[in-house]
Amino acid sequence: MQNKIFSITVSSAFSAEHSHDKTLNEAIHRHDFKYEITLRAPLNEEGYIEDFRKVENLLKEINSKLEGRNLNEILPLPTTENLAYHIFREVKKVFPSAVKITLREKENYSATYEES
Ligand SMILES: [Zn+2]
Repeated sequence: MQNKIFSITVSSAFSAEHSHDKTLNEAIHRHDFKYEITLRAPLNEEGYIEDFRKVENLLKEINSKLEGRNLNEILPLPTTENLAYHIFREVKKVFPSAVKITLREKENYSATYEES
């Protein structure tokens, strides 16, 4: 089993607002964002990739910097795509085995960034 590659996925959520005045003609509005992060790696000697709780705790920490905020103050172009990449990079700093994020701004609209 040691050389087989596994994936784990942890989901999280936060609410924040943004606007896209220049290109999409959208005034400021709020979303209940939901996202999932996938880590991919061989198993360690204990038989797992990463402690789910450690990943979840990091996501909560990232969420606390975004919750209730105006995302235009955090990112120059806070589209769902750019926000997904922003969160992905924060995760990647702590968990280098992170390979994918899907961020959902509503039930049927999501953006995915995946390392190739
Ligand atoms: Zn929006």
